[in-house]
Amino acid sequence: MDKNLKDFDVYEEFGVNVFNDYTMRQRLPKDAYKKLKRTIEEGKELDIEIANIVAHEMKEWAIEMGATHYTHWFQPMTGVTAEKHDAFINPTDDGRVILSLSGKELIKGEPDASSFPSGGLRATFEARGYTAWDPTSPAFVKKTPNGSILCIPTAFCSYTGEALDKKTPLLRSMEAISKQAVRIAHLFGNTEAKRVTTSVGAEQEYFLVDREMYFERKDLVYTGRTLFGGMPPKGQEMDDHYFGVIKERVAGFMKELNEELWKLGVAAKTQHNEVAPAQHELAPIYASNNVATDHNQLVMEMMKKVAERHNLMCLLHEKPFEGINGSGKHNNWSMVTDNGVNMLDPGKKPHENLQFILVLTCILKAVDDHADLLRLTSASAGNDHRLGANEAPPAIVSVYLGDQLEDVLDQFSRKGEATHSIQGETLETGVTAVPDFKKDATDRNRTSPFAFTGNKFEFRMLGSAASVANPNIVLNTIVADVFMEVADRLEKAEDFDKEVHEIIGEYLKDHKRIIFNGNGYADEWVEEAEKRGLPNLKTTVDAIPSLVTDKAVEVFARHSVLSKGELESRAEIKYEEYSKLINIEALTMVDMAKKQILPAVMRYEAELANGANAIKTAGVNPTVQLEMLKSIDEKLVELKAAITVLEEADSKAKAIPEGPKQAKEYCDKVLPAMAAVRKPADELEFLVDKEAWPFPSYGDLLFYK
Ligand code: ADP
Ligand code: MG
Repeated sequence: MDKNLKDFDVYEEFGVNVFNDYTMRQRLPKDAYKKLKRTIEEGKELDIEIANIVAHEMKEWAIEMGATHYTHWFQPMTGVTAEKHDAFINPTDDGRVILSLSGKELIKGEPDASSFPSGGLRATFEARGYTAWDPTSPAFVKKTPNGSILCIPTAFCSYTGEALDKKTPLLRSMEAISKQAVRIAHLFGNTEAKRVTTSVGAEQEYFLVDREMYFERKDLVYTGRTLFGGMPPKGQEMDDHYFGVIKERVAGFMKELNEELWKLGVAAKTQHNEVAPAQHELAPIYASNNVATDHNQLVMEMMKKVAERHNLMCLLHEKPFEGINGSGKHNNWSMVTDNGVNMLDPGKKPHENLQFILVLTCILKAVDDHADLLRLTSASAGNDHRLGANEAPPAIVSVYLGDQLEDVLDQFSRKGEATHSIQGETLETGVTAVPDFKKDATDRNRTSPFAFTGNKFEFRMLGSAASVANPNIVLNTIVADVFMEVADRLEKAEDFDKEVHEIIGEYLKDHKRIIFNGNGYADEWVEEAEKRGLPNLKTTVDAIPSLVTDKAVEVFARHSVLSKGELESRAEIKYEEYSKLINIEALTMVDMAKKQILPAVMRYEAELANGANAIKTAGVNPTVQLEMLKSIDEKLVELKAAITVLEEADSKAKAIPEGPKQAKEYCDKVLPAMAAVRKPADELEFLVDKEAWPFPSYGDLLFYK
């Protein structure tokens, strides 16, 4: 076999760095294994003796893997993961050490939590925060050339039990939807079902750029996106990058990335070039909601790490380049019972699958009632550059169902029942050697923010850098809420069938407006959506208040996912994060403009002027030089003035106390002032000698060797 294909044995290596079910079964005493499984599968509490046994074996295994430390790995509200390392060592009386990990250490950790954002939930002097082991996501060893660490996935709470992270509410929301979905499953005769798990597959888009060039761009270093840069002669207009042949350097990166992920048990499955030059995508096979969330964090972390080994840098920002498509993250979501029924699988004849139709209409209601909350989950300063910009779905939430389901629902609306389902036709390829095959009953719609895709929903508004926790916390909770209402009604109903039909009819009538099968990028949709009364929350600042409306507070409280205080703290963090980010961008812009662009342009001007003088001395009229000098100087004056305006706008915004008012100031005043600096600077880039420009251009970055 080819050496290249043989040097990594995926069968042997998949999951080797994970303390997964296979490893646990091999290493744990039978009884301990069984009890741990019960905890994982049924949420039963784990007694400390068992925890001690598990901790001991986990440590032994980790040491064999080369680990010297362990960490409670958690996801604070910053969007990245956090870890504080503890060595396994424990001194003995004779001046040596033993290596240990106790059950208590496995279950509970106490990092100094004072510097993580808590949105006022915890004053800095009450720094206590606890991390609690989440046994439903397996522990793993992170191997690095500089040491290996046992990572124990955990939830992170304050001393008083408030969630300080994304994992805690995610787990709570999974429990909420499980509880209500089980009731629905039981009502439809699946009485064996004990749990319903939401499954998630996160498609991750990203850019790769050359590492050396990256460090020459302070904007990339400080903000993750370019704040200057004119369009190169070639962008993405030829569509020749999408699904194109992968460059060798990039292929090398992808190969190593896959291997690293496989070792971590992440089932990286597909990879391809995306629409924009230098843009790519990776999708894993879907997994249970919280495992998928952890895995997506690992995917992002590994992308960054592995890129550097190939002298590349991975950009996860939602919009690294103006005028070039940005990066998103598609959140594929479905729910499956513990006896294997995907509640979003319509089957071949959806019209006969009453449970599916009911579930579908429940989701329509949930999304319509809480469109603002879903919108919020994808809101960030970075993603604001994408949503509604003809490359990502609009900021208006709507649902795409496709022809088949729309037709079935239409029959329900008109007649109170459905009697047939449109079937897919055969696709004739017209080539005898290529077999004809059956088409899906429905085409795809890439412009919809929330699309039904066969047996799952795909939420497409999320930005590439975001954790998938937030959209799933919301989805799970709002759908659980409608399920609860429905289950309450159906459990009491005298005529079950009649009540199901009534609910479907009612929900369809009230929430039909959320269905939209057309082109979400078109301007007409914005008008139409407004007529339908659908919210269009254009910016992050517009969207944040959705988190603390009475409606939101009530739905989260009803299912014990997030309390009012927790929601308020999250809103506060969002405002803060937004303002801080724009402030950094503004300062970076000023810095680059003053220290790099202005001096470079002035040097070039001097060069032109000297040249012009020399030409004049030689008796020739330097018309071209003088004309260029004039154009350049006009832009220079404009740039200088715009910098001053931006500095003033930023100072003014910074002086406002943190919160909605400040964020709005950054959004309404500082962002336009930044655009005003960028315009003359980008024009200057095309007037000045390439050699004189102080940092790599878009062309250099996007079309690297
Ligand atoms: P696309 O056509 O949008 O690129 P795919 O159909 O290949 O997408 O699937 C994209 C993602 O959806 C993958 O991560 C895949 O594992 C995941 N996925 C597939 N089926 C389900 C499901 N039932 N529930 C959740 N995710 C799923
Ligand atoms: Mg997709």
